[in-house]
Amino acid sequence: MCDAMSCQQPKVTSRRDFLRATTALSLMTTAGLSGLSPVAWAASPPKPDNVLTPDAAIQRLMEGNQRYASGVRLRHNFTHDRAALAGGQNPYAAILGCADSRVAPEYTFDAGRGDLFIARVAGNFANDDMLGSLEYAVAVLNVPVILVLGHDRCGAVDAAVKAVTQGTHFPGHIQSLANAIAPAVKQAQSQHPTQLLDAAITQNVQDNVASLSTQSAIIRQAQQAGKLKIIGGVYRLDTGKVDFQLKTAS
Ligand SMILES: [Zn+2]
Repeated sequence: MCDAMSCQQPKVTSRRDFLRATTALSLMTTAGLSGLSPVAWAASPPKPDNVLTPDAAIQRLMEGNQRYASGVRLRHNFTHDRAALAGGQNPYAAILGCADSRVAPEYTFDAGRGDLFIARVAGNFANDDMLGSLEYAVAVLNVPVILVLGHDRCGAVDAAVKAVTQGTHFPGHIQSLANAIAPAVKQAQSQHPTQLLDAAITQNVQDNVASLSTQSAIIRQAQQAGKLKIIGGVYRLDTGKVDFQLKTAS
């Protein structure tokens, strides 16, 4: 995993760096993660602007989406980024997003390489593999925010709606997606029966914002320590805007 993510052992050069590395190592040891390499940027983060508080990271996501939606994007220096990121990564946010090709988080938040750690699965729900990816982002890469990002007209949620309301059974492994999202559909069904798809999309985001911390001790501990916030959002295909759900999981 670390080879693929360009992890290295830390090079500690200052007291501040030492404390940061020690804290990371302590968390990883406490959480039983000592088999994973700690952050590569203990000496110097590859993208210093990405070292943010949770609130500042949320603000950056919001501002990036405003730029994207208005058609005014920053210029990203890919050559410089490539050199800086060759030795490690320090993304400022992790995203649990849908696999839908129309929802591309780097575009949506006007971000560059090394900015966003993205786990994508159709229907943006947290199964064990998604949780493991996000735990890595929190425990090793120290991301200050996780965004659960749904979108309107989501085919995976629509499949779950059809499974719940019409008893549709999908071939292959597609049914497992519908099964995972079905609880959100049933919850939405009791509250918004006339706009079920939209309500289920929102409910699915809310459910997964809540479930990340309940399912993962690593994520919960980071959240309780004030190092991490978990928020939701729904991407609007027509406008490119994200409707953020800023009520963080508790
Ligand atoms: Zn989708």
